[in-house]
Amino acid sequence: TIDFKWIKDNKEAVAANLKNRNSDADLNLVLHLYDKMFTLQKEVERVRGERNAVANKMKGKLEQSERQRLIEEGKNLKEGLAALEEDLAKLNDELQQEAQCIPNMTHPDVPIGGEDCSTIRKMVGSSPKFSFPVKDHLQLGKELDLFDFDAAAEVSGSKFYYLKNEAVLLEMALVNWTLSEVMKRGFTPLTTPELVRSSVVEKCGFQPRANNTQIYSIADSDQCLIGTAEIPVGGLHMDSILSDSLLPLKYVAFSHCFRTEAGAAGTATRGLYRVHQFSKVEMFIFCRPEESEHYHQELITIEEDLFSSLGLHFKTLDMASEDLGAPAYQKFDVEAWMPGLERFGEISSASNCTDYQSRRLGIRYRPASEAQATSAKKSKGNLAPPQFVHTLNATACAVPRMIICLLENYQQEDGSVLIPEPLRPFMGGLSVIARK
Ligand code: AMP
Repeated sequence: TIDFKWIKDNKEAVAANLKNRNSDADLNLVLHLYDKMFTLQKEVERVRGERNAVANKMKGKLEQSERQRLIEEGKNLKEGLAALEEDLAKLNDELQQEAQCIPNMTHPDVPIGGEDCSTIRKMVGSSPKFSFPVKDHLQLGKELDLFDFDAAAEVSGSKFYYLKNEAVLLEMALVNWTLSEVMKRGFTPLTTPELVRSSVVEKCGFQPRANNTQIYSIADSDQCLIGTAEIPVGGLHMDSILSDSLLPLKYVAFSHCFRTEAGAAGTATRGLYRVHQFSKVEMFIFCRPEESEHYHQELITIEEDLFSSLGLHFKTLDMASEDLGAPAYQKFDVEAWMPGLERFGEISSASNCTDYQSRRLGIRYRPASEAQATSAKKSKGNLAPPQFVHTLNATACAVPRMIICLLENYQQEDGSVLIPEPLRPFMGGLSVIARK
């Protein structure tokens, strides 16, 4: 349920937010459609009332002619009502479609502006010093026989890849190590469906129907390939009222992710950096509203712990308003040093989506704090009314960019690559990838 009344009552703040986020959502159109729908709803109720009144009159004793007149009147009202209800459904569709484009509100600490306005929260480690010419992951992969992009291009198209040999073990090790680390912190592991209904994709704040969408749709079906496990995990508790004692619900999900990468032409596209399919471990939390900022900090801390354990040099950013995407209220990205690229590259992001997704997905909880329970008892003798939970998501490990980081940062003069200590037990004790 999008809170249109709130949007209407806070029109100026919403308009300013759209400007800050460089959103092309049409607020005036949304409010116009909302008003139109409100009027039409009233009309539907009025005609429904009339039809019921006629039906009631028919229950009594009536002259034959009067009965005939009422039958005729009832028939007309029924037909009129069906037409009005059809109009209402169409209008509602249009309203929901337009409203999808309106992004979440923005945390007051978020820097306003484009990508360049993002601010650094933290810098960890330093870039490795090499006493030999540095290779990028493509060259290392070629020499160590770790990838096949050519065959993938033939079989699937550009931006696909086969992993081979130790790169396969590295992917599995990264996934299993990350899962085990995050599970130690109290998260429940999940694997998810990778085809989901487009309605769920939309409720999570992604737009499968937009031009230039990142989402692949399956022809002749209402399903899409997931761009991230955030979508099926968000849908896990769709249309339910969670009990307070269950919160927070913390999940760590493994999935493949599929992205069209429409509009990515000209950006870093070589090798594994920007591909159409990749593996990812994603953290997701459902929590009470007052706790979401706390869990946002927890998620970014877990990410920082994981990347530090792997010995990466990285920075954490408070992302600027134009770079938040629709669902996030605040977003922290991590960028790690990639020696082959000679720059920092994004490896993860952690978003607090507040009630943006839960409203659309219908995920509520019944507060049970003592104060709330007491006041509810006093007022009505009932339980406190259900409220929307907050949702948060954060990347624990996006495999391809992590492979880039590990190969490029841990390359040795003899062409081999060291495996960071924590991953070795997950690779049968392997400590180095060396030329055969
Ligand atoms: P996002 O869900 O867009 O925040 O992406 C999460 C993480 O997935 C990013 O920080 C990247 O590490 C990784 N990622 C996103 N898109 C791609 C892609 N096309 N190819 C490889 N990795 C990606």
